[in-house]
Amino acid sequence: MVLGDKTGLSDSKILLGISACLTGMEVRYNGGHCNSKLCMQTLKDYFEFKPFCPEVVAGFGTPRPTLRLVGDPNQPTLSYSDDTDSDLTGQFVEAVTPHLPGFDGLDGYILMKNSPSCGLERIKVYQENGYAHEKRTAGLFTQMLKERYPLLPVEEEGRLHDDALRENFILRVYTHHLFRTQVMSEPTAKKLIDFHSEHKYLVMAHSQKAYKEAGQMLANLQQRPIASYIDEYFELLMTALAKPAKRKGHTNVLLHMLGYLKKTVEGEARQKIADTIEDYRVGNIPLITPLTLLSHYVDMKGTEYIQAQRYLEPYPAELGLRNNL
Ligand code: SF4
Repeated sequence: MVLGDKTGLSDSKILLGISACLTGMEVRYNGGHCNSKLCMQTLKDYFEFKPFCPEVVAGFGTPRPTLRLVGDPNQPTLSYSDDTDSDLTGQFVEAVTPHLPGFDGLDGYILMKNSPSCGLERIKVYQENGYAHEKRTAGLFTQMLKERYPLLPVEEEGRLHDDALRENFILRVYTHHLFRTQVMSEPTAKKLIDFHSEHKYLVMAHSQKAYKEAGQMLANLQQRPIASYIDEYFELLMTALAKPAKRKGHTNVLLHMLGYLKKTVEGEARQKIADTIEDYRVGNIPLITPLTLLSHYVDMKGTEYIQAQRYLEPYPAELGLRNNL
């Protein structure tokens, strides 16, 4: 796999969980699959996939009758679609639960849409009269996954075809991986401070509020055991990154970074960068254009601190994720 130096990652692939049917495995209720070209062709050079089909693990067989969620939308049960009195929830939970610890090394999960087991959201819950409740929910497996790993980046395959959502998911995956391997594996105050120092502008692009809170938290590291700060910071970080950054957030960060070139880059060149940032701000050009220009000058004339910012390359540039933002 090809990784830019700025990603700070080794050559090993990041491990993602995935609904098994998306990998081409014939595990669907009808004995078919939903092979995802995006995952199996585009992303497979960067990620290793751990396929998992909770319905097969639960012993429902392939092929099998279709399933649906029924009852209370806040606590639905899983049943056969043609026999809503059947309650398969216990069998499902009992079979899937022992597999959950095996997901400890994951940095993300890609789920199949519209499944009562794997769906991320908007899954119908049926009433006794056969009509669905207005309120939708997540599939049963997804609920279990999110309960055990609340900060794990999860996304539906279908949504990954949207440029902004794909960029955001992969950004979260890489950030989750770095934090897990660089900070949580050896939790010290120095590791946490170094990590934040490199991620300041990434956080700022997504949330000014989180950026300020993180700064305040790290200024008071002596008051509690370091483990509690690390958990708190990780939650703050992943929550801040949970939604794509807006054009306004990126513009703000680009201008801040440009400020660091004040003493080293001559006025005319700085003005050219500022003009390009403005073109991006008003929507005339994609993010990659001002970013490439700025990165060029940061590489040549920036301080170590600004060169180390993950914002400049939070994932391999070859993925082209900023080309359409
Ligand atoms: S959506 Fe989930 S439960 Fe259904 S076939 Fe795919 S992996 Fe199995």
